Amino acid sequence: MNGITIALSKGRIFEETLPLLAAAGIVPAEDPEKSRKLIIGTSREDVRVVIVRASDVPTYVQYGAADLGIAGKDVLIEHGGAGLYQPLDLNIARCRMCVAAPAGFDYAAAVRRGARLRIATKYIAVAREHFAAKGVHVDLIKLYGSMELAPLAGLAEAIVDLVSSGSTLKANKLVEVEEIMSISSRLIVNQAALKMKRELLQPVIAAIEGAIK
Ligand code: ATP
Ligand code: MG
Repeated sequence: MNGITIALSKGRIFEETLPLLAAAGIVPAEDPEKSRKLIIGTSREDVRVVIVRASDVPTYVQYGAADLGIAGKDVLIEHGGAGLYQPLDLNIARCRMCVAAPAGFDYAAAVRRGARLRIATKYIAVAREHFAAKGVHVDLIKLYGSMELAPLAGLAEAIVDLVSSGSTLKANKLVEVEEIMSISSRLIVNQAALKMKRELLQPVIAAIEGAIK
């Protein structure tokens, strides 16, 4: 497609991306929280935004349905990054990936005695790598949301999830027992588009880079 298509997810990424896009002279014409439109025009005639699920952003950019996108490190690790350049860490949507368990569960002791642990998570790739590196035997149980429920309902001993303030964990009587990595969102670029549309994309990437806090 001509012009530039940018894939974004609703919510925190959209909100925190607005100032970065504004620095490139790009202002979305509508608020995706209010409009049901999935393709949103912008103040620039040659730039449009497509609204997709956070975990679908890398897929749109990989296949060139979007030239640019913004996705969390968590999502990028699970996707694998094929076909993508990741030129900028935008320092937005900051949080951390961690292991959490019920307050009464002695996670460290279970690990020490080599117990096999059931871990519920949306982040299978990150969890597999983390526990393999520690030599902990785990059964990974894939969930798509509300990971905090899993230990309370007896589905798993612990979870791997994203945490920022910790209030969701606290509300469910879970504690963070291990930090795995810090997470922020990155700009991703379709590799072919970066070559074919360099004159169009490069100034946008440079303007976004200049606006990173
Ligand atoms: P969906 O709601 O479509 O299942 P999601 O929950 O991953 O997807 P968001 O909650 O909008 O979507 O999260 C988007 C990105 O923001 C995540 O991929 C992650 O990088 C980051 N993020 C998630 N939770 C937090 C948080 N509590 N604080 C800061 N950043 C977060
Ligand atoms: Mg969410």
